[in-house]
Amino acid sequence: MKDTLVLSVLGRPGSGKGTQAEYLKRDFGFASFSTGALLRKRAKNRDYTGRRIGSFIENGDIVPSPITFFMWMPELESFKQKNVSRIIIDGTPRKILEAYILDDVVEWYDWKNMKVLNIKISEKEAIKRLVKRGRSDDELSDIKNRLQWFKKDVEPVLRYYKKKGMLLDINGEQSREYVYKEIKAKLKL
Ligand code: UDP
Ligand code: MG
Repeated sequence: MKDTLVLSVLGRPGSGKGTQAEYLKRDFGFASFSTGALLRKRAKNRDYTGRRIGSFIENGDIVPSPITFFMWMPELESFKQKNVSRIIIDGTPRKILEAYILDDVVEWYDWKNMKVLNIKISEKEAIKRLVKRGRSDDELSDIKNRLQWFKKDVEPVLRYYKKKGMLLDINGEQSREYVYKEIKAKLKL
């Protein structure tokens, strides 16, 4: 049997991570989760941690790694139990610490084929798209905040995977169909 493919999808807010993950699920039966979506769901439970997560998201701040880890780790555990052969991780890791943890997790589950999509759009394009999208954390000041930690926290993650030869750069500033074509070509799907 072929090795399980673990695909992390990264890119600036508004780059189309969720959209492309949906296409891959639809056509290739990837199992997937979005860390952002898991956090938004968790924030609906208004206990201490739910309220804290909610305010972090509203301000466009990055939620501390132990909290997000608690969200995504059970998803991966369940994928292992179901023995799925293709996995999408939408929006993790966002910090180098999380990349190191994910390395250990992937090794733990004996998943030998991990790739990272880097869907590239400029800051200007990200702002344009998010203002249009209009989610409650898409206010200009929140967006600026998210773009700032993308630079500080996510870009080192991208460099880390590039060095390991795992990074696939995708031009995110084309129609969603063309972005998808490029992804399929680079993944040889
Ligand atoms: N978030 C986070 N850590 C993560 C993933 C998401 O703190 O690992 C928070 C963060 O506040 C982010 C929000 O959840 O702005 C939404 O994440 P999502 O990936 O859905 O946003 P997108 O990048 O698609 O705009
Ligand atoms: Mg998203």
